[in-house]
Amino acid sequence: MEEIRNHMEASFDAKSVNEGLARMLVAAFMTEMNPTLEQLADVKTAVSEAVTNAIIHGYNDESRQVKLVCERNGEELTVIVEDEGVGIDDVEQAMQPFYTSKPELERSGMGFSFMEAFMDKLLVESRKGKGTRIILTKYIAEGCEE
Ligand code: ATP
Ligand code: MG
Repeated sequence: MEEIRNHMEASFDAKSVNEGLARMLVAAFMTEMNPTLEQLADVKTAVSEAVTNAIIHGYNDESRQVKLVCERNGEELTVIVEDEGVGIDDVEQAMQPFYTSKPELERSGMGFSFMEAFMDKLLVESRKGKGTRIILTKYIAEGCEE
């Protein structure tokens, strides 16, 4: 049987009101894949973390655009969250549990750890001064029932 493919792109202002929008878009996109409620919640949480990071770290709260890409290849869901903000100096350090560059904002430094825990794959591409691209992948087996 041929794999079902689908692709979606959206851009929105880097404002925290749009975190909910990003979650809804991804949830709607993956509905066709018949995810369990748990899989749905996992992906929404991971996307929230990535979008929040783009807004507060990438753009330091200026309202530029965050790009969201959803891609389906059969049972594989890939979500890309991209900003053209400040970028990350040391990706390995940034991905350590509890590492945060903004402790004064009472951030816990667990965003990347959640993304890793809730998705099957996490890739971080970043260049200082250019921006950051987060690539999240999860397998959603077809015909899953609750
Ligand atoms: P929490 O997510 O728990 O509120 P946090 O955002 O600091 O805290 P992570 O999401 O794990 O923790 O991110 C770790 C660090 O990586 C951030 O503190 C920041 O320095 C850097 N970072 C993450 N995403 C981006 C981004 N899009 N642009 C620039 N820096 C980023
Ligand atoms: Mg974070």
